[in-house]
Amino acid sequence: MIKALFILFTFALEMAGVRLELRELKDGCLEQLYCCSADEFSILLELQAEEQVKVVQPICFQLRLQKSGQIVEVDGQLQSRAGLVCGRCLQPFETDIRSDFALTFTPLVTQQEMTADEEVELDADELGLIYYKDETLDLLQPLQEQIIMALPIRPVCDPGCLGLCPECGCDLNKEKCSCVKQPFNNKFAALAGLKGNKKHPES
Ligand SMILES: [Zn+2]
Ligand SMILES: [Zn+2]
Repeated sequence: MIKALFILFTFALEMAGVRLELRELKDGCLEQLYCCSADEFSILLELQAEEQVKVVQPICFQLRLQKSGQIVEVDGQLQSRAGLVCGRCLQPFETDIRSDFALTFTPLVTQQEMTADEEVELDADELGLIYYKDETLDLLQPLQEQIIMALPIRPVCDPGCLGLCPECGCDLNKEKCSCVKQPFNNKFAALAGLKGNKKHPES
């Protein structure tokens, strides 16, 4: 039953093109599930064309909107799955993408209402507020930003991924090579030296 309702809501929001009319917020509150394909987001299309990311599941946003006065608060959760390239071993892998976020929308003040419009705009940006106008929230750009932020900056197939050998380039997860590597020894030696100096600052 609840699922059926979600599907109805999803359909309604999809038809509106990720726009939400504030009059739909009955009692000032609305919960909505919005699922869409990555193709709706221009930045994701670019990343997919560059083969940096491949979104392999619909992107679903569970949104909870609350209007108090002119301010609209949106609490959201996004979920999807993406194919990425490991930054250490360069192998493709898939990972779940999840994140919680909160957005605050405020009405765009018209020119006549503004005293110093640039200042108002700066203030809103600094506070992390997003403008809406004509009683309609345009969610496309803010949701796109959330997807980009949810993607790992340095994707790693596994926290224990050994990466490629810097000398011969072999995948150290799959094979061993006989190249000489001493990064850990050097690090510990430097650390020991530092500690030694701290104990005897005068020497
Ligand atoms: Zn890896
Ligand atoms: Zn090697």
